[in-house]
Amino acid sequence: MSDSSKDPAGQALDTRLAHTGKAPAYFGGSPVNTPLVRASTVLFDSVAAMRETRARRGEERAFSYGARGTPTTFALEDAVSELEGAHRTRLFPTGLAAIGMVLLSYLKPGDHVLMSDSVYEPARNLVHSFLDPYGIRCTFFAADGSGIEELFEPNTRLVYAECPGSLVYEMCDLPKLAELAHSRGALVAADNTWGSGVQYRPLALGADISLMAATKYLSGHSDVMMGTVATTREAWQPLNERCDAFGMTVSPDDAWLVLRGMRTLSARLQMHERHAMEVAHWLEARPEVAAVFCPALPQHPGHELWKRDCRGTNGLVSFELQPGIENAAVERFVDALSLFGRGASWGGYESLVAWANMRAARSVTDWSQRGAVVRLHVGLEAPSDLLRDLDCGFAALGAG
Ligand SMILES: *Cc1c(COP(=O)(O)O)cnc(C)c1O
Repeated sequence: MSDSSKDPAGQALDTRLAHTGKAPAYFGGSPVNTPLVRASTVLFDSVAAMRETRARRGEERAFSYGARGTPTTFALEDAVSELEGAHRTRLFPTGLAAIGMVLLSYLKPGDHVLMSDSVYEPARNLVHSFLDPYGIRCTFFAADGSGIEELFEPNTRLVYAECPGSLVYEMCDLPKLAELAHSRGALVAADNTWGSGVQYRPLALGADISLMAATKYLSGHSDVMMGTVATTREAWQPLNERCDAFGMTVSPDDAWLVLRGMRTLSARLQMHERHAMEVAHWLEARPEVAAVFCPALPQHPGHELWKRDCRGTNGLVSFELQPGIENAAVERFVDALSLFGRGASWGGYESLVAWANMRAARSVTDWSQRGAVVRLHVGLEAPSDLLRDLDCGFAALGAG
């Protein structure tokens, strides 16, 4: 080896490559956005400093190892805590992972959980795939909360709600539910994906735990998967400990994208709401439509609760076709749309359409005599263009 590969301090090129350029010197200002920090290993100046950080990290937030979070994921946690009015927040790779971890953190074998009939369908599926085999019993309660008093058992530890509910947006009286649950020693967890912390805030209404699929409105651009769970101070420890035990973390790149999406969350929701209301009113006048589902509509069964508890609505509008309309016609309607994309999920800037299977999605409420339900996510496109697209859909529906 020639001497030119060594620097004046006598270090070989391989050594210098491993240590150079880590703290570039510069002067000037700072960026608007939170820096993206990627890390697995975190370095300490001494054994004592490492020992002290590890001793305190259970209670306090500390940068100690990538799996425990990085400054970028901490920044998103704090932003979500602010949005939810929470003590602290943990992040998950998907919204469904957030749901699973709530059940894992607050229930143990022998416990009983009350779950709303209106929950996101994969949450319902956890009853057979996870709760049953682990000896945790689940009873579904009516989406509007009626009759729940009779369903509590001595070992009921958790009431799991989703308000407004998936697909047809049933409302329940969350403060009343929380009072009932707390007086019986149970906690209340709510799926807040619909409200996304802007239109609905479960913790302020008495829930102990609020979770969201940040995949939807928080990220807002249909290109990131993430879940969040935010809790009160009293409910924090079980979740935090279980997450650390299971090594739950997210990529800082994804956290950075969600944080960026959140800056326009409120502005986007206001536009989604305006466009969705236009579409909802237009649908109400269609002869093919038997019912329009959106809690901001006065004839929605939960409208009074929506007025009391929500700040606004979002881009979701579902409708029931007249019961006589056969499946092939529904399929023609969905396939004829060109601005409404056919695909799962929602909450991005673009419009989507999905054919909902209400018979599989509810067990307390009987949907067997009702017409097909179509869910629209109304995006940021001009409503006049969206209405023209829906008009094409109805033309195809009637052309059988
Ligand atoms: C989409 C959704 C989820 C799950 O989110 P993923 O990130 O897709 O796993 C959970 N709850 C509700 C209400 C949802 O709409």
